[in-house]
Amino acid sequence: MTRAWNFSAGPAALPEDVLRQAQEELLDWHGTGCSVMEMSHRGKEFMSILAQAEADLRELMGIPEQYKVLFLQGGATQQFAQIPMNLLAGRSADYIVTGAWSKKAFKEAQRVAVNTNVRCAASTEESGFTRLPTAEEIKLDPFAAYLHVCTNETIHGVEIPAERIADAGVPLVADMSSHILSRPVPVEKFGLIYAGAQKNIGPSGVTLVIIHQDLLGMAPLTLPTVMDYAVQAENGSMLNTPPTFGIYIAGLVFQWLKRQGGLTGMEALNAAKAEMLYACIDNSGGFYTNPVDVDCRSRMNVPFTLADARLDAAFLEEAKAAGLLGLKGHKSVGGMRASLYNAVSPEAVRVLVEFMNDFAKSNG
Ligand code: PMP
Repeated sequence: MTRAWNFSAGPAALPEDVLRQAQEELLDWHGTGCSVMEMSHRGKEFMSILAQAEADLRELMGIPEQYKVLFLQGGATQQFAQIPMNLLAGRSADYIVTGAWSKKAFKEAQRVAVNTNVRCAASTEESGFTRLPTAEEIKLDPFAAYLHVCTNETIHGVEIPAERIADAGVPLVADMSSHILSRPVPVEKFGLIYAGAQKNIGPSGVTLVIIHQDLLGMAPLTLPTVMDYAVQAENGSMLNTPPTFGIYIAGLVFQWLKRQGGLTGMEALNAAKAEMLYACIDNSGGFYTNPVDVDCRSRMNVPFTLADARLDAAFLEEAKAAGLLGLKGHKSVGGMRASLYNAVSPEAVRVLVEFMNDFAKSNG
């Protein structure tokens, strides 16, 4: 069996140790005689898996007690709607638009907002989503119910560095889908953090929501219970059947992360991986280009183009033959993209860089 070097944007590579452990435990989890997929979500076995996953996540991210951790379904896309449905409470909200995902979140909030206004507080669309807005460009409403940001734009490769997260005076809501767990995060600066699982957490189907208790209980009474954060929190993510197998794999990923030295350890590895790839692009004499401002280049998602787009097909074909998968860029921006999530090893990035250097030499 050979495993490819997987640079997919999501669903994405999972740690091989985790897959092996899941394989070993697949038919008979801890002597129960059944798979995690086959056991009651309310039995003590699954309850212990869920409790351990939450405890490990709290430890990894340093989540304060005043925050609830919810394991939901519906993906980050459902959160685009669920957040305004829960938090607007008749008020306005501000959105900073720095790429395709925060734009989608903004549009969805406009769609579900009833009799209220959802504002774009800043957008970098005119510069092709290749930079962050300056402080002067951001026009905040001090009465907004919340301010929404996407801290890592998966398609455009723009990441907000932790030190740029400032106090907005209103609850900060962040889509961290594509870089959660890749580095330490000051959770206490956020009102709500959310992420689809399928990049750095586990399989698709689990959506993580970390919400400050002060933001619970603001939903209108007409909101379906399954969409109400307060109801989900009261029921410990068990209002209905949660995505049990996905939560189990996420729990294994959290334990794996602890063995790698937690998020500080991951950050050092991720910074080194990203540096290797950006150096390859920047030193290619224009053969490869990444358009993003250096101070906000994503460590997780690295989009790049070839100077001669006629070589794209050959690049992808030869990459595939060399065991390098998932490098095709998102259709909206074209070119290539390498996603360097936690489970992508420094070795994988070395192999990619070597391939890119060789390809540039043979075709430049
Ligand atoms: N936000 C970001 C930053 C994403 O990268 C994605 C998916 N690629 C989404 C939201 C949508 O997530 P989902 O498919 O889980 O709804």
